[in-house]
Amino acid sequence: MTGASTSTAGSHHGLTDRLSRWARGLSGKPDEPQVESEPRARAGSAASREINRRRRLYEEIGEFLFAHDLDLTPLNFGVALDYLTGASIGVEKAVQAVLMERGKISNAWMESLAASQRADEVTPDALASMLDKVEENLDEFTGLMTESRNSAKDYGAALQEQAKGLAAGADNEPILARLVSLTRSMVEKTRQVETQLRENQKQTQALKSSLETARRAAEHDHLTGLPNRRAFEGVLREELKLAKEGDEQLSVAFCDIDHFKLVNDTHGHETGDRVLKFVAGLLAKASDDRCHVARHGGEEFVMLFRGKTAAETCEAVDAVREDLANRSLVNRTNGERMERVSFSAGVANVLAYDDPRAALKAADRALYLAKEHGRNRVYLAAEAD
Ligand code: GH3
Ligand code: MG
Ligand code: MG
Repeated sequence: MTGASTSTAGSHHGLTDRLSRWARGLSGKPDEPQVESEPRARAGSAASREINRRRRLYEEIGEFLFAHDLDLTPLNFGVALDYLTGASIGVEKAVQAVLMERGKISNAWMESLAASQRADEVTPDALASMLDKVEENLDEFTGLMTESRNSAKDYGAALQEQAKGLAAGADNEPILARLVSLTRSMVEKTRQVETQLRENQKQTQALKSSLETARRAAEHDHLTGLPNRRAFEGVLREELKLAKEGDEQLSVAFCDIDHFKLVNDTHGHETGDRVLKFVAGLLAKASDDRCHVARHGGEEFVMLFRGKTAAETCEAVDAVREDLANRSLVNRTNGERMERVSFSAGVANVLAYDDPRAALKAADRALYLAKEHGRNRVYLAAEAD
């Protein structure tokens, strides 16, 4: 089927893509902005440092493959590259987990990891075929129900017809025999419908779990692993309900990285991505069952706090802001210390507004003011907003 060939083509394309990115020297786990580390000794030109970095990565891949007696296949090479460059959070976590557990990795395990990574990718094609299947199952279900209703109706009519012929003292035997045969065929029909319904139910169950995987993938941001805006909207609805029921506070904060375009322009998009992941990680440290963090889009994150007043939320967000602003990030691609990375935030009390969307708008306006007034600060929305 086309799915198999598509995924093979996809993985090849992915590998080529990653290899060329790697060759261009744009990605690399060793480049993870490192916090509060000292700048490296600046030996040689930027070009020779770059060549050394690539050679190091190449050697690390080789060491990884030989250390685990892994075959020199494109698949193994691709997984090792993903792991060592941190290009895929899923691969990184899975490798770390198996190393902790067993200390050794096999060819078969690498293959199953690559397969599971592909399975996690919900392509539009896969979604469309799941939806087709749902539609098909529904049609079948509706058909079975109609069929079942019709045969019950026919049975009822035939029963009535035959019962008319039943009379006291008459020879009822042929009529009774007809009734028995009618009942038998009805029982048989019901059994058939039941079997078909059970099969239909099994397929629906399998579809439900595929759709669940698709839903999870659709609600998570690939880069940072955080819930995305769509997921956040659901969380906001739930938390609003909980806060109202429990008579608790509920506050929202929009956090937007300052001059992020400049980070991309100066250090490249890949480093920008790693900064995004880093900031996401710092914000996510605050999350628990009463604090939800999501990537709202681009370089903007949203936090929702239940049980904290807007002023308390300002304090909590400000602590993260200060933490980030005091860190000195080093771009290990070239050993250069990066300019300080900071974010600005706007906070609003969700319950002060009739509609949570109005609260989000108020937080956004407060964020805008925080930017206007110099960035790297957290502003509280005036409740009359
Ligand atoms: P401000 O302080 O006013 O927020 O300035 P800014 O530069 O952060 O804001 P602006 O909206 O001008 O630019 C945001 C930039 O964020 C532009 C866009 O390319 C970048 N960006 C958005 N999403 C991503 C991403 O996933 N990865 C990377 N590397 N950059 C991203
Ligand atoms: Mg910004
Ligand atoms: Mg922005």
